[in-house]
Amino acid sequence: MPTLTIQSDLCKGCGLCVDVCPKKVLGFDPSSLNAKGYRPASVLAPDACVACAFCARMCPDCCITVER
Ligand code: SF4
Ligand code: SF4
Repeated sequence: MPTLTIQSDLCKGCGLCVDVCPKKVLGFDPSSLNAKGYRPASVLAPDACVACAFCARMCPDCCITVER
């Protein structure tokens, strides 16, 4: 299974990664806020990830790493 890492404290909660993921792996956990006060993207369905890395390429702040 691929490993997805989100550096939550760099995330600004823009949602681009959530929108681009074809497998609906990413989303927002309503109970989560990072140190900057943003709601960071979270990995909600890790088993569905196909390691396409669209999310990592889309993120403007390079928060996401995908390892196969
Ligand atoms: S690597 Fe692809 S399938 Fe996995 S979370 Fe990112 S966009 Fe979704
Ligand atoms: S694209 Fe990057 S900054 Fe935007 S929500 Fe996703 S991880 Fe956070």
